[in-house]
Amino acid sequence: MEVILAEHAGFCFGVQRAVDTVYQQIENSEKKGRPIYTFGPIIHNEEVVSDLQRRGVRVLDSLAAAGRVSEEERGTVIIRSHGVEKIVCENLKELGFEVVDATCPFVKRIHNIVEKESAAGKSIVIVGNEGHPEVEGIRGWSESATYIVGAVEEARNLVSRPGEELCIVSQTTFNYKKFQDVVEIFAERGYNGSVVNTVCNATEVRQAEARELAARVDVMIVIGGNHSSNTRKLYEICRQECEMTYYIQTLDDLHLRLPESVRLVGITAGASTPNNIIEEVQNYVRINF
Ligand code: SF4
Repeated sequence: MEVILAEHAGFCFGVQRAVDTVYQQIENSEKKGRPIYTFGPIIHNEEVVSDLQRRGVRVLDSLAAAGRVSEEERGTVIIRSHGVEKIVCENLKELGFEVVDATCPFVKRIHNIVEKESAAGKSIVIVGNEGHPEVEGIRGWSESATYIVGAVEEARNLVSRPGEELCIVSQTTFNYKKFQDVVEIFAERGYNGSVVNTVCNATEVRQAEARELAARVDVMIVIGGNHSSNTRKLYEICRQECEMTYYIQTLDDLHLRLPESVRLVGITAGASTPNNIIEEVQNYVRINF
């Protein structure tokens, strides 16, 4: 029996970089002897967060929580891949924390565009989901009026000031087709300004690859946290192509009894599934079937 692991299973580049940053900081802290925090959980994966907790990394959920940390305990705060508002970095520094910015460079690029264009007088349109931490972070780099548009109807209903110049960007994980649809509405309305495509295709690539792999294997295994919406989406895509698709969190959930006829097993994993879990599952299937 052959096992094929999807090339883009698991962490994307930005998340891998953020998680690596935390582990590097743990090594450095042994020299510095100062506590380490992440601003929000570094990733939505219980295994990783508990491992970091065991190594002494604490999670700060808000600026208010950071303010409650005693002065001697104000060590290093790592900003996760989603990024944060400019004021959050500034306030953390004012409180005496050292800020290590692990914002994904693709998100940082949006912060830079928004900061520059808003300073030049343009209003900012962020095509994305209101309330998503990445969108809130992007909004926090704008010095001018900022609109968040999550759907075509919202673009149609947006009332901008006469002569207002716009700079349109997108949340990195927003669907590219929907982004184009929104931009088209602005074009129809004769907006004045610029559009920067800031959609990251990491999610799309992972999904397309999972679909293609599921269509050619006998059994498909999708690994990811219970609450991970992108893993659930991967599972649904694979299930459409392959009836024997299994959704597991870790190797412990895998209770496979495979029919003799199974020749090919495919494995993929959600964006917050660490490599060691993927490898464990892969090795287990290779050795035991
Ligand atoms: Fe990952 Fe792309 Fe988001 Fe960066 S922008 S964290 S690479 S999904």
